[in-house]
Amino acid sequence: MKHHLWLLVFLLFSGTAFADAGSTHDLLAKGTEWETPAYTYDSGKEGPTVVIIGGMHGNEPAGAAAAAQIRHWPVLTGKLIVIPRANQKALSARQRRIPDFPTASSDLNRNFPKTGEPNEARTVLAKAIWAFVTELKPDWVIDLHEGFAINRQNSKSVGSSILCNPDKSTRMHFEHAIAVVNASINDPAKLFILKDENLTVNGSLVRASMQRLGAVGAIFETTYEGQPLPVRIRQHRLMVHRVLKNLGMIENGPDQLVFRGEAEKTQYIAVFQDSGVGGNGPGAIREKLDSAKGKFSTRIIGGAEIRNGILTEFDAVIFPGGSGSKQAAALGEAGREEVREFIKSGGAYVGVCAGCYLACENFSWGLKILDAKTLSSKWKRGRATLDLEFAESIFSSLNLDSRDASVVYVNGPVMGPANSDAIPDYETVALFKSETAENGSPKGIQIDSPAILRGGFGKGRVVGISPHPEQTEGLRDVLPQLLDWALETSH
Ligand SMILES: [Zn+2]
Repeated sequence: MKHHLWLLVFLLFSGTAFADAGSTHDLLAKGTEWETPAYTYDSGKEGPTVVIIGGMHGNEPAGAAAAAQIRHWPVLTGKLIVIPRANQKALSARQRRIPDFPTASSDLNRNFPKTGEPNEARTVLAKAIWAFVTELKPDWVIDLHEGFAINRQNSKSVGSSILCNPDKSTRMHFEHAIAVVNASINDPAKLFILKDENLTVNGSLVRASMQRLGAVGAIFETTYEGQPLPVRIRQHRLMVHRVLKNLGMIENGPDQLVFRGEAEKTQYIAVFQDSGVGGNGPGAIREKLDSAKGKFSTRIIGGAEIRNGILTEFDAVIFPGGSGSKQAAALGEAGREEVREFIKSGGAYVGVCAGCYLACENFSWGLKILDAKTLSSKWKRGRATLDLEFAESIFSSLNLDSRDASVVYVNGPVMGPANSDAIPDYETVALFKSETAENGSPKGIQIDSPAILRGGFGKGRVVGISPHPEQTEGLRDVLPQLLDWALETSH
């Protein structure tokens, strides 16, 4: 009873703060083409005010993605403000600078007040961010970036470093952050370096915040070339986590990505984006699922998180296109066992193209969660638009105009029954009705083979999709609807 009374008091006084699990958000540069959200998690208790910013440069996605995860961390003391996608336009264009903008002002992180100049930012976006950050009177400002190369290997890039200018009391936090991220790295040539000689560039938000607001500032840099996205996201997360933990602001672990409200109906979907994942598939899948706000919420994950048991936080996991064997290698044997256990105990699995190979029964590196095998070892059948026919029994449950459709296909598996005793038989959702057979791959086996299939595994459900409906106009609802089916039994 007492508990409920306090909850009521909390609800009455917390206003909008309760709406998004403890955090509220402001829109910076509201109503302009630069509009971007800033999320504030105010613990209501005394403590530091920390600003985390990501996505200043559009070709550095790990910082933006890490910030988007960090903003959900429940804050126990002080106030955490996160601006995950500072430069939306450059992020959408996947380029460093703001597209179609004069070169002199197109680098957002050169537009903040410069040393010895008036306290004025340049451009609408930088002005909005600077005004917002100034108002906060932050104790800390940490900006998440990526370099093209590892600084230890190539001094032309500041990749895999922390740039800061610490005093005696703050230095320890950066040393701890470096130690914790380096503990996650096996290759000595890839270790992070603490660069404490204040290299933060003139016109950057961090330098302006240190000089004009008296904040402790740092730029965390991962390295984008040759390293998978979730590895870099996790590196940012590990470093930020250590600092916030040191400051007494958080309690959760660095790999906790889901914070479920009590009566929350959102289904949390892990999207695997480690080595072996490529192309536009993962982005298209996440965009589609996240657009159903309140229904689905996606998180990018990699092999390290799965091996750490992160799947138990989620309702479903999606393995997109790329290379099935490389995805299997990124998972490792322990990770593959985690995925199998997750499905067995009621989790949902959707595998697209490579993710469908991964689910099959006939590979030594496979998950063996779908009673299907590939009919030929020659997998380079080519890229084509192929005809599909949806099964009559399933068609009515999908939001489609016709049982016949055309679909984008890129070297996906051509499958038949594996007849394993350990896995229940699959059900065919759609058949291929035309084929491509390049590079010496066998002709005649693809037509009338299952393009999309589904089945049970333990208490969970598995969907295998050989082509790419998520990248095909008119078929983008197919994956979410099959995901709904797979989620019916879970939790
Ligand atoms: Zn940058």
